[in-house]
Amino acid sequence: MDQIPATLGGNDRAQMGARAAETARRLTGQDVVAVALTWVDVSGITRTKTVPINRLEHAAAWGVGMSPLFDVFLLDDTIVSGRHIGGPVGDLRLHPVLDRVVPFAALPGWAHAPAVRFAQDGAVHPLDARALLYRETVRLGEEGWEARAAFEIEWAVSAGDGDAFVPAARGPAYGMARISELAPYLRELLTDLAQTGVTVLQLHPEYAAGQFEISVAAEDPIGAADTAVLVRETVRAVTLRHGMRASFSPKVEADTVGNGGHVHLSLWRRDVVNGPANAMAGGAGPCGMSAYGEAFAAGILRRLPALLAIGAPAVASYLRLTPSHWAGAYACWGPENREAALRFVSGVQGERDQAANLEIKCFDPAANPYLALAALLAAGRDGLAAGLTLPEPVGVDPATLDDGERTARGIAPLPSSLDAAVAVFEADDVLRDALGEAVVDTVATVRRGEAELLADATPEEVAAATRWRH
Ligand code: GLU
Ligand code: MG
Repeated sequence: MDQIPATLGGNDRAQMGARAAETARRLTGQDVVAVALTWVDVSGITRTKTVPINRLEHAAAWGVGMSPLFDVFLLDDTIVSGRHIGGPVGDLRLHPVLDRVVPFAALPGWAHAPAVRFAQDGAVHPLDARALLYRETVRLGEEGWEARAAFEIEWAVSAGDGDAFVPAARGPAYGMARISELAPYLRELLTDLAQTGVTVLQLHPEYAAGQFEISVAAEDPIGAADTAVLVRETVRAVTLRHGMRASFSPKVEADTVGNGGHVHLSLWRRDVVNGPANAMAGGAGPCGMSAYGEAFAAGILRRLPALLAIGAPAVASYLRLTPSHWAGAYACWGPENREAALRFVSGVQGERDQAANLEIKCFDPAANPYLALAALLAAGRDGLAAGLTLPEPVGVDPATLDDGERTARGIAPLPSSLDAAVAVFEADDVLRDALGEAVVDTVATVRRGEAELLADATPEEVAAATRWRH
C-alpha cells in the first residue's frame, strides 16, 4: 500500500515527480490524454480536477490547486461555513496517488487517479479523507492488525435522460429477465471493470425496479475505497453511454427499497510466518470469531448510532433506513440476518477462514467511502482496546418483536433522522479523538446544512433532490 507522509518534503516531491514522468509515459502508450484526480467530499460526492497527461509530473510533485471550501459543499452545491472551513480564501494542493492511477476503460482517453490533499507548506490536509483512512490503517497496523474491506455497489437504472426515475428494466426482482433486457449494457460494464483492474465477484438484479448490484473482491481499506469510486464512475459512464442514467441515491424514489452501500469488513492478525489470519473465523467466540474479532465487532456495534452520521449521511438516508427493507434499521447483530445493522457473514464451511466478515448494512452510497472506513476502523480499534464482547445474536427481523422484547434483548432502533445521528456523533469522544476536531465539526456542519436545506421537503422532494447527486 502506498504511504501518505504527514508532510511532503523536497525528496518526496522529487521522487513523486520522477515516478509520475514514468507513469505518464506508460499511460501515453495506452492512449491516455488526461488524468482525472478525484476526491470524495463530506457530502459523498466525487469531485475532480483534471490534468492533461503531460502535466501529471508537475501535479505529482507540486499538486493542483483547489479551494478548501469543497469540504463544506452540500449535495446541491450550496456552500456552508463551519468553524474550521469556510470563506473563499486558501488553497490546497491535490496530489495524484501514483500507485493507483489506471486508465478508465469506460472513458477512453482518460485515466483515474485518487488524490490526496496537502497544504501549500506540504502538511497533509486534516480533512483529507483518504489520508485519514491511511492514518487509521497505520494505527491498526501498529497493534499488529490489518483490515480487509469491500463496498457493495447498488444502483438503479433509469431510461432516458429525464430527472424523473423511469426504471430501465421491467423484469422482476432478481429476475433473469432484467439481465436479458439490458445484457449489452451489463456486459460492457463487466468488460470495462475488468479492463480497469477491478475484480468483480458478482452482478445481480436487485429488489427495486431497475436496480442492480455489483460486489467486488476485498482489499486493503484504502484500496477498497478507491475501488468503490472507480466502480461507481464506471457504472455511471457506461450507463450514460447506453442513453440511461444511474442513481446511487440512498432512496431513488420515496416509496421503494433504497440503494444500500453495505461495507464488508474483516480483521486480520499479521503473521509473517504463516500469513495473515482472519480474526473473524477459527476462534472460540460467537459464530467462530476469535476474542479479538468479537471485540472489534462489538466496538462497531456499540457506535453504530454515531457512525450513521458518516455512513448514512444524507437526509434521504433516513427514508431508506426503515425496518423490514433489508437496510438494517436496528442496532443489533446476527449471523446472516439481513435486518440486523451488523450482519455476520460466516461464509461456507471449509472456506470460513478466508470468507468470514462483518457486513455493515445500515451504510449507504451517499457515504464518503474513505471516511466510512476510517470511522469503522476507529470504532473497531476501540472495541479491541476495551476487550468488548457482543450481546446475544439476533436471529429474527427485530421489527417483528414488540417493544418489550426488543428492550429485553437490548435492541434499539438506530437514529431515525440525520439530525438525531449527528447529535450522537458529536457527543462521541472515540470518533472525535480518531478523526479530529476539524472533521467532526465539518461533518456536523455539512449534515446540519443538508437537514436545513431539506427541512420542509416531502419524501418525494427529498428523493428528487438526492436522486442524481451521488
Ligand atoms: N437495497 C437494500 C438496502 O437498501 C439491500 C438489499 C440487500 O440486502 O442486498 O440496503
Ligand atoms: Mg444488495
